Amino acid sequence: MGFTMAFNLARQGIPFTILEAGNKIFDDPRAGTIHPPTLEMFANVGVTPKLLEQGFIVHNYHYRDRREGLIANFDLSVLKDETEFPFRLMLEQHKICYILRDLLKDTPKSEVLMEHRITKVEQDAEGVRAHVETPDGPKIFEGRWMVGCDGGRSQVRKSMDVKFDGFTYPERFLVLSTRYDFAEHGYAITNYIADPEEWCALFKVPGHDNKGTWRVVFPTRDDETEEQLFNEDAVQARIQGFNKKSGTYEMFHRNLYQVHQRVASNYRDGRLMVAGDAAHINNPLGGMGMNFGLHDAFNLSDKLGQIWHEGASHDLLDLYDRQRRTVAQEYLQRQTIENKKNIEQRDPAERAQFYADLRAIVASPDKLHSYLMRVAMIEGIRRANSIQ
Ligand SMILES: Cc1cc2nc3c(=O)[nH]c(=O)nc-3n(C[C@H](O)[C@H](O)[C@H](O)COP(=O)(O)OP(=O)(O)OC[C@H]3O[C@@H](n4cnc5c(N)ncnc54)[C@H](O)[C@@H]3O)c2cc1C
Repeated sequence: MGFTMAFNLARQGIPFTILEAGNKIFDDPRAGTIHPPTLEMFANVGVTPKLLEQGFIVHNYHYRDRREGLIANFDLSVLKDETEFPFRLMLEQHKICYILRDLLKDTPKSEVLMEHRITKVEQDAEGVRAHVETPDGPKIFEGRWMVGCDGGRSQVRKSMDVKFDGFTYPERFLVLSTRYDFAEHGYAITNYIADPEEWCALFKVPGHDNKGTWRVVFPTRDDETEEQLFNEDAVQARIQGFNKKSGTYEMFHRNLYQVHQRVASNYRDGRLMVAGDAAHINNPLGGMGMNFGLHDAFNLSDKLGQIWHEGASHDLLDLYDRQRRTVAQEYLQRQTIENKKNIEQRDPAERAQFYADLRAIVASPDKLHSYLMRVAMIEGIRRANSIQ
């Protein structure tokens, strides 16, 4: 989120400093799905051709049952009259950061400072002061505004007078990465696979060598330790249980994520704002969290531009809060909570009804259009922009 925010400030000629705690761009296997509105926003600033060069285009995705097989095939081309990009793009978040970092090189009066961890933030009527741990010792950075794009545990948010209410799921999500080609078994590039015992999400991203890496996401039991979960035999048993094949799976990443559903009670406190996971966190089913955060960054940078160049009222920052926080509650939280509930549904009658609904949706172009307008995040953007 930080790089998108900075890129949009830079193209408006607004100086910025990125303070990043890590010594490199965080390249954990997390977000990999980009939805149509995000591609539209990046297209408006000339970045989408670079994303398309590196990503995999997904025209359709599958909803499956682990035992019954394919339930519904969602064809995104029904959105062709709504967006220039009627598809999902699979490209990892850190690669978006690399592209933006390269575009930001040589931006005047601006800096990207790695190994700079914010420990405290203060503000007064004129500006903000960040206390920062750096390789050269503690330093203070000053500015007119600060946008916390510092993730779920945001220090900037903790310095604001806001709550981060919601809940944390008891189970963690295990993500395994392999080069094994699941397409040979009829899977699409993106698949949501329901099961009352052990659901699964399976998708293909370009990976380190851009030749394709498959990620498999499983829920875990609350009582399983990290050591048990990462044990080679346990990992092989879990993935073989999902898709039996001869020989072992070559696995090059195993990651465990705690999953939450939370939204900040306000995205603005004076001269401090939050965007991305610092403002809202949710489970990854549907691939929405990063996209939503990118939409925050485009929205907020545009408003900061109006304040900087046109002397617009600071009240615009409250509009940012109203627009983005409302849709985080109405769309992001609601949809992702529903996605998890559906994929793990234990009640056979409820599950059968859900599958019947999905089949009815894909059988009707009108229903499919209206469903995909919501889950492809187009409706949420239009709703946000309608808020005054
Ligand atoms: C398994 C999984 C799959 C997912 N898939 C998708 C998907 O397909 N599509 C999607 O839209 N979303 C997805 N998400 C969600 C997505 O990954 C997050 O919403 C997104 O990464 C949030 O980005 P961010 O920039 O807000 O926060 P982060 O990526 O967490 O970045 C925060 C940055 O702030 C830095 N930082 C933290 N504290 C400080 C500090 N005190 N001082 C300075 N720097 C600091 C960190 O080092 C980090 O670089 C997925 C999540 C998971 C777990």
